[in-house]
Amino acid sequence: MKGATVERPTTEAMLILNVTKWDADGEEPGFWLLTRGGVIEHTGTGNSWVEWGSGVTTIDGTGAYLTPGFIDLHFHGGGGHSNEDGPEAIKAAVATHCEHGTTRAVVSLVANPLETLLDSVASIASLADEDQSILGSHLEGPFLAADRRGAHHPAHLIDPTAANVQDILRAARGTLRQITIDPGRTDALAAISTFADAGVTVAIGHTSADYDLAVAAFRAGARLLTHTFNAMPGIHHREPGPVVAALDTPGVFFELILDGTHVHPRVAAHLMGAAPHRVALITDAMAASGSADGAYVLGTVGVEVSQGTATLAGTSVLAGSTLTLDKALRMGLKAGIDRVAMIEALTLTPARILGLDAQLGLLKPGYLADLVLLGSDLTVLEVFVGGPVRSAATA
Ligand SMILES: [Zn+2]
Repeated sequence: MKGATVERPTTEAMLILNVTKWDADGEEPGFWLLTRGGVIEHTGTGNSWVEWGSGVTTIDGTGAYLTPGFIDLHFHGGGGHSNEDGPEAIKAAVATHCEHGTTRAVVSLVANPLETLLDSVASIASLADEDQSILGSHLEGPFLAADRRGAHHPAHLIDPTAANVQDILRAARGTLRQITIDPGRTDALAAISTFADAGVTVAIGHTSADYDLAVAAFRAGARLLTHTFNAMPGIHHREPGPVVAALDTPGVFFELILDGTHVHPRVAAHLMGAAPHRVALITDAMAASGSADGAYVLGTVGVEVSQGTATLAGTSVLAGSTLTLDKALRMGLKAGIDRVAMIEALTLTPARILGLDAQLGLLKPGYLADLVLLGSDLTVLEVFVGGPVRSAATA
């Protein structure tokens, strides 16, 4: 399952011609785009590129689509590598997803002893400086509900405290992009406020929260649902639960695993219809993504992968996916989801959740040159990673 070639930015200019542009602003045939130093410099249609096109590397994309790079807010590994196995494994996992169109990713960590998590977020902070595809970390544990733990080891689940919240923020040095919290944990609402005030995107998930508790979490500063519908109560006509609470709260976004297993594609289509511009497709991929079926380890628990479905060893509990985002795109289109809504959910919406939508997610001048060239069958032909994201202070 080797993916496409991946190009890193150079100071040279590059011109991509004769493609159909496909981003959150719509589709446009006969499109061209000029990049320099990992940034989109000019765009246009037809032959207007001639003004810029002499002496630059030119790629004729006749018959292909050009989309912004996909952004994955939530993955645990890929290509046989797990995020828990250290910097080299994380880089290899990110590289695997990159071959499938993901140019930027937030590195998710499953529940582990707090000391281990602090070491991991500190090492990801260094990695984010080194590899521009890595946007920072997502702590999925340890503040999760035991009865909704999924593949997270129950021994590592704890309540947030003022002290452990500060320890995490300090270790991450500004690179903790996201944290998933069960608002039912003791002192969870205070922790949600503290993380949100520190600029972290707080998600609620792995929770039994009802509608009112979910609304309280959003009021405290949470603004995302972790893998919507999975590891939380669904929508019941007498128990609306966290999904309806999120639908009712403007500014709250939804993660969604569109692999055909975690959520039925028709339910995915209805969620996207009910919450336009607010759904970000994620992989939640574990090590077997882009690799073979077999026995794997997720954090400290054993996982079996059979026909691409990952479950906790000896159970039917789903333990992440083997999805890549190009596959999610194809699945959504097959389910009849609007084409522009699908590409937005892979690009601009996750960028918006991270506050990076002025830099990532559109094919416009000034945006970073994260590009995916897709064949007419929507397989990934070539991937370009643009320059590093600028921090809020310098953007
Ligand atoms: Zn996860």
